[in-house]
Amino acid sequence: MENCLFCKIVKGDIPSTKVYEDEKVLAFRDIAPMAPTHILVIPKEHIGSVNEVNAENAAIVAHIFTVIPQIAAAEKLEGGYRVVSNCGPDAGQTVHHLHFHILGGKQLSAEMA
Ligand code: 5GP
Ligand code: ZN
Repeated sequence: MENCLFCKIVKGDIPSTKVYEDEKVLAFRDIAPMAPTHILVIPKEHIGSVNEVNAENAAIVAHIFTVIPQIAAAEKLEGGYRVVSNCGPDAGQTVHHLHFHILGGKQLSAEMA
């Protein structure tokens, strides 16, 4: 997908601090962390948001959710963590390539919205 920031990160055109990579998934540190640990987990294939998850591509989302606990363990988030995916303008989605935020390393706010 041209002009997609995260597709450019996948291609290596924009540098990132990678914490996990396999054939289908990339995880890297958020450039503006909102918690001591703030990692973004993305599919390498372009999926715009949760709204674009469907029967054909849902396996990648399932795979991402097997990768997330591995990253959490590697990051020593024994106390827990939050997984967030902003979808659309009301949620404040700014990058239109599906991504899951992993936030942890402190007691997170009780407010979800
Ligand atoms: P959203 O607001 O769409 O849920 O999340 C997008 C996230 O991408 C934000 O937390 C933002 O800090 C992060 N981000 C934006 N541009 C870059 C970048 O060039 N590199 C990295 N590592 N993160 C970015
Ligand atoms: Zn993309």
